[in-house]
Amino acid sequence: MARRLEDGLWQFDLGVFAPLAANVFLLDESERDDTDDDTVTLVDTGLPVNYPTVRSELTDAGYEVADIDRVLLTHYDLDHVGGLARLNGLDAEVYLGAADVALVRRDWDPQWAHHKGLFHRVARRFYPLEGYDLTPVEDGDRIGGFTAFHTPGHNPGHTVYVHEDIGTAFLGDLVWREGEGLTIPFWLDSYDMREIRRSVRGFADRTPAFERALLAHGDPIHDGGDDDLRSLADSLA
Ligand SMILES: [Zn+2]
Repeated sequence: MARRLEDGLWQFDLGVFAPLAANVFLLDESERDDTDDDTVTLVDTGLPVNYPTVRSELTDAGYEVADIDRVLLTHYDLDHVGGLARLNGLDAEVYLGAADVALVRRDWDPQWAHHKGLFHRVARRFYPLEGYDLTPVEDGDRIGGFTAFHTPGHNPGHTVYVHEDIGTAFLGDLVWREGEGLTIPFWLDSYDMREIRRSVRGFADRTPAFERALLAHGDPIHDGGDDDLRSLADSLA
C-alpha cells in the first residue's frame, strides 16, 4: 500500500519481507507550499520482481509513470534500480552517484575477488540500465531542492539526498534501522565497512538539519532524524 507520509510525500513499501523488501519514496512538490519547485521526484525504484510493484504503488497514490520528472537513485543495487524495468514510458532525468555510473557503464571494474564486486560484475551484465541516460552525481550537487552527499562504502557511488526545505533526508542504505535507532549495513552487502563508518561520520558533520530520515529498509524516523544519525556517528568514532 502506498503510504502518504505528509502532503506530497509518499512511501511505497515494496516486497513483503527483508531482504527483498525495499522502500521507494515519491515527492510531489506541487502539493507543497514550502518549496519553490513543482517537480515530481521518485527516490529509488525497488527490485524488478517486488510485489506490489513500484508501478502499482504509483497508481495507488494517484500518479502515472509519465508524471515523474526525475528519479534519484541512491546506488546501483538491484533492490534500488531494478524497478526501473517496471516504469515503461518513463521520461525523466535519472541520477546516480558518479562512481556507480562508472561501475554500471564498465568504466570501472570492481575486483573479481571482492564479494560484492563479484556480485556487481554479474549484476551489470544482466541489468546494465541500457536505455537510460544516467546523470552522474557528485558530492555537493544541487538537483532542484535536493543536495547530494557522496557517502561511499556500501557502494562506491552511494549517495544520500537531503531536501532542506522539507527537512527530509533520503538515506538509502547508508544506515539501517535497529530497534528505535540506527545501525550500519552488514559486511556481506557492502564494499568497505571502514568507509561506511567514515561516510556516516562525515555526513553527520556536514548535513543541514533534518527531522525526517527516510531509509530504504525499515520504517521512517519522523522526528529528530539528524540526532539519531549523530548518535550513531558518535558511537562509530
Ligand atoms: Zn538496499
